Formats: sequence, C-alpha cells, structure tokens
Amino acid sequence: MAKPQQYLNFIAGRWVSAKSGKNFPNINPANREEILGFFPDSGPEDVNAAVQAAESAFPEWRLVPPPGRGEIILKAGLLMKERKEELARLMTQEMGKVLRETRGDVQEAIDMAYFIAGEGRRLFGKTTTSELRDKFAMTIRMPVGVCGLITPWNFPMAIPSWKIFPSLICGNTMVFKPAEDTPLSALKMIEILEEAGLPKGVVNLVQGGVKTGEAMVRHPKIRLISFTGSCEVGRLVAEHCGKNLKRCSLEMGGKNAQIVMEDADLDLAIEGAVWGAYGTTGQRCTATSRIFVQEKIFSSFKKSFLERSRKIKIGDGLKEGVEMGPLINEAQLKRVRDYVEIGKKEGAKLEMGGEPARGKGLEKGFFFEPTLFTEVDPKMRIAQEEIFGPVTCLIPFKRFEDAIRMVNDSSYGLSSSIYSRDVNRAMEAIRDIEAGITYINGPTIGAEVHLPFGGVKNTGNGHREGGETAIDIFSEWKSVFVDYSGKLQKAQIDVD
Ligand code: NAD
Repeated sequence: MAKPQQYLNFIAGRWVSAKSGKNFPNINPANREEILGFFPDSGPEDVNAAVQAAESAFPEWRLVPPPGRGEIILKAGLLMKERKEELARLMTQEMGKVLRETRGDVQEAIDMAYFIAGEGRRLFGKTTTSELRDKFAMTIRMPVGVCGLITPWNFPMAIPSWKIFPSLICGNTMVFKPAEDTPLSALKMIEILEEAGLPKGVVNLVQGGVKTGEAMVRHPKIRLISFTGSCEVGRLVAEHCGKNLKRCSLEMGGKNAQIVMEDADLDLAIEGAVWGAYGTTGQRCTATSRIFVQEKIFSSFKKSFLERSRKIKIGDGLKEGVEMGPLINEAQLKRVRDYVEIGKKEGAKLEMGGEPARGKGLEKGFFFEPTLFTEVDPKMRIAQEEIFGPVTCLIPFKRFEDAIRMVNDSSYGLSSSIYSRDVNRAMEAIRDIEAGITYINGPTIGAEVHLPFGGVKNTGNGHREGGETAIDIFSEWKSVFVDYSGKLQKAQIDVD
C-alpha cells in the first residue's frame, strides 16, 4: 500500500504544517486499517496564526462588493460540480456513507454556492419612514468580522458550505475547523475556494480536534462562533461565548419523530421510515429515531418495516448496491452498542439487529445492524437521548393528540414528520409539533438549502442556517438616518 499522504493547514494563503509538527490519521471507517492521510493536529498557536491572517484580510475583503464575492462563490460551486464524483468518492472513503449519499452531500454544497452567490445581488436591507420631516431612514447589513466555524463529520461538505458561503457573502473572514474524522473533504473545499480566486487570508483552515476548537472559542479576536455538533459540546461553546459576549450560533442534536396515521399510504410511510431511520447509518441530526404508529395499523406496519429493513445491504459505501455504510469510528460503535444494552435493560424489546454487522467484507469496518426496538416507553433513555446510529423505536398510539404529546415530550426539536391523507390532521400537526422542520408525507430527512434549517428547544439557540436566515447569523444590522433638513431635528421631541 502506498504511504499515506501528509496534508497541511491553509493559513494566510499558504499550506503549512502544525507548528508542533504533530499529526493525526484519517481512517476509513469501512476498513480501519486504511489510513487515508495524516493531518495537522493544530494547537492554539496555529489558531492564533489563522486568526491573525483572517484579521489582516478583513479590511480589504469587507470592501469587495458582494456581487464580486458572489462570483468567487459561484466559481467554487461550478468547480465542485465538475469534480462532484471525485469529491463524493473521497467523502465515502473518509466518512463511510454510501456514494449515492455523498453525491447528495456534495450537491448540497453546490446548491448552497449557487444560492448564496445570488444573494450577493440582494443582501436586502429596508428603507422606511422617519418621524421627522426631511429625514430618510434605512437599514444595511454589515459584516461581523473574524468568524470561527466548527463543524461535525456527518455532512463533510454540506455543513461547511452552510457556514462558509453565507459568512463570505456578508464580507467576513474566517477560521474553519472541520471534524477530525472528515478533514479531507474540508480540505478539498478550501482548495477549490483558493482555485476560484479567494484572496489570501479570507478563509483559513486549521485541522484538529477538541483543543483546536477550544482555542477558537477562547480566542478574543474571533467575534462569532458558528458551531454544529452535539448538545454537550454546544453547551460548552455557548457558556464560553456567553461569558465573553461573543456572537454564537448553535445547531445541535435531534430526536426526530415520524407519526403514521391509520389513513396513511402505508407503503409510502414505511419507505420513508426506513430511509429516515437507517439512511446515513442513522448518523443524521434529522434521523428518524422515534416512529409513532396508530394502533390499528401497528402490527402490519411493524411486519413490513422489519421485512424491508432486513433486506438493507450493508457494506463499503463505494460498492455498487450497498445501502448502508459503517458508523464513523470505534467510539461511535461503542456508543451505539451501549445504547442497545441500555434499551434492553430498560425493558424494551429488541426486534431486530443490536449487534455489529458481520459477514464477508465487514470484518475491518465499524458496521452495525439496522436495529429496531418495540415495547418502548416514550420516557426511556432510548426514546429520549440522541443515539446517532441505526437504531429506532416503534411506539403505538391511540389518538392523534397522544402522538403529538409524545412527539413533543423531548428536549430536542429539530425535525418531524406525519403521514396521513387527512389534510386537517396534517395542518394540525404543522401547528402543534414543536420542531424547526415538519414534513407531510415525507421522512424527517431531506433539507433544501433555500429554506431555514434548525430546531427549537435544545437543538439550537434560535438561529437558522440555510435560506436568507443564514445571512442573519453572519451579518450585523446598522440603522442609518440621513437628515436633509439642514437643521438640528430631535427625535421624539421635534415631532409634528
Ligand atoms: P461533536 O460535538 O463531538 O463535535 C463537533 C465539532 O466540535 C467537531 O469539529 C469537534 O472537533 C469540535 N469540538 C469538540 N469539542 C469541542 C470543544 N470543547 N470546543 C470546541 N469545539 C469542540 O459532534 P460530532 O460527533 O462531530 O457530530 C455529531 C453531532 O452533531 C450530533 O449530536 C448531531 O445531531 C449534531 N449535528 C447537528 C446538526 C444540525 O444542524 N442541527 C447537523 C449535523 C450534526
């Protein structure tokens, strides 16, 4: 096997090693013996250099007209489109999800590039009236300054694109730290931005893990932290940003539910549930980890769900026909196994799976069987906590109101779904479910870039990525008053 390549950080437009000279390996989760490369294990000194570069680049970048910024983003999107297959293959190798899904991940970054590039010709503010004569009032958007972007591994290009492109279009400069499990996809994205003509120092890439992220959160010159990841880490990030009055946007976990009413198209609901629960090996913040099925159809739903799920082909995501890849790493495998034990101890019935997947070609990867629990009390830990693996619970309900109550009995509030042919029920669900996203007759997964993305309760802290709302995260409002009366006019005092 060829010696794994050594990759570098990107700071001030130059590719450089970590100052400590330390590195970490990037491992293929489908084959733990395959090292895809070594990446700089960056410390506070590297973060510091990256922040300095971003700070130096800011005064010039903020003056580049937004349509010009958009043109660079558009070019990056076109380059990604050209290299979509190559990028998807690399992503499957380092992240594990199947090619069909990594193509989707790259496509989402392309969509975001196209969408945000156009935003360069909008970035709308408002004009409004003044309470005084001969006075004009308007609002404009200002960049925030140096931003720190911290991302997880489950969407290695899509999630960075939700942060980097909106942040760029607003005129910010930034330090970007991807997850240590997917450093290569992030690096490819930065190479593409460099090729698209992004000026030096505008985006700086520092690879690394917890201590790299901590150094960013603590850095006094970083004005904004945009974080996507677990609730535990998000809370730490928020505490620190709170103490230091840093702007902070958090996108965190979910415990997403699908409701299936007895009048639903059953085949469609099952297809959606299987995809929602086991797509991306359940490692999506929007994964369907609770399925509420109305009593009358519960047993037929369960039977068909099991039949369909048992056929899922597990394996290396690069192989044709494989439907479910491995979990991301050893720790995640342990976490999922532990939750299966917790579920059993709590008294839930393990209907399917619950073990690492075995078989030819699976020996060296972090594969896990699609897992289903029934006889689950909605208060059990497996029905309350985010597992982030191919594990879901099937729970019966009698009345629509019971389903809504159980769906909302969660500390999270990201995504939700209802399958029903009754438009009134669907509208009630839209009204009553406490979540940032509700799908009617579709699974809990399937975000589109031009709509706000995020959740309520412990899923977030009130921001939304995607859509125009992403721009709100990365810009500050300025109110502007132009007085053309030629005299001193006092608001609230000199009014007619
Ligand atoms: P994680 O919280 O462990 O790590 C996320 C990122 O934070 C990584 O880059 C990590 O290196 C960094 N980090 C870790 N500790 C840090 C610290 N103390 N200070 C600063 N940075 C630190 O999450 P993960 O395991 O990479 O991702 C899985 C989680 O992400 C799940 O909870 C999932 O629901 C969530 N997620 C949420 C969304 C969303 O938009 N709501 C999308 C995808 C994933």
